[in-house]
Amino acid sequence: MQVVILGSGSPIPAPDRAGPATLVRTSAGDLLFDAGRGMSMRAAAVLSGPTAFQAVFLTHLHSDHVTDLNDVITTRWAMSFTPNPLHVFGPTGTESFVAATESMLETDIGYRLAHHEDLTWRPGTVATEVTDGTVFDRGDVRVTVAPTDHAPVHPTVGYRVDDGGRSVVIAGDTVPCAGLDRLCVGADVLVHTVVRRDQIEALAVPRLLDVLDYHSAVADAARTAERAGVGTLVLTHMVPPVQPGSEQEWIDLARAEFAGSIVLAEDLATVEAAPVLH
Ligand SMILES: [Zn+2]
Repeated sequence: MQVVILGSGSPIPAPDRAGPATLVRTSAGDLLFDAGRGMSMRAAAVLSGPTAFQAVFLTHLHSDHVTDLNDVITTRWAMSFTPNPLHVFGPTGTESFVAATESMLETDIGYRLAHHEDLTWRPGTVATEVTDGTVFDRGDVRVTVAPTDHAPVHPTVGYRVDDGGRSVVIAGDTVPCAGLDRLCVGADVLVHTVVRRDQIEALAVPRLLDVLDYHSAVADAARTAERAGVGTLVLTHMVPPVQPGSEQEWIDLARAEFAGSIVLAEDLATVEAAPVLH
């Protein structure tokens, strides 16, 4: 099983970082976790994309994590030659979000149905709201979900993918919590969004200070990984943006709390889910 960070960015637009999105390549095909800005372009770079996704899993409905879901829905629909509905899993609110997204696309759907004689079906996206337990089970691949804590954004979830004895956890945005700890136990890879508490406090911009109380600082994510015996911690969705030359600072903050392997994500960073010797 392989993890490809399609988007390592945050809500802040960046020229070289797509919005939050992670591709997990399993024996049952490609699974997409969150659908941030520009992620379809990154997926194309690894020969994946909307028609290849077996399912999409949303951690929460913050705009930066879902802004390109509409592109995934449209592209999959318009590029499939038989009905190929997209399955979207997410927390409570996902059904209405998906319905509203298709409603937003109604004009385009009408254009294409009228123009393409062989296209006789609508996107037909299938949304499933999830809270806890196994939500996807195909072949050797099992995806389980647990609640996370991104309050006041509620509900939010994290996911764990198990495939052939290997495991990957997608934390999404959360502070340390019991649900995430449960997902992470013994995981080979943990993909965790992080912020720099020291830098945000130094900047002292009120709108930015607000993000501290519902995200994990680098040290928080590292402690979660250490508690669970994770093999590789992938830091992503860095806020504030990583300044060139400061990459090692981010690694060092995690290293102080975590003995395993640490990756500071860039777009298209690829990590194998495999044992790491501590
Ligand atoms: Zn969020």
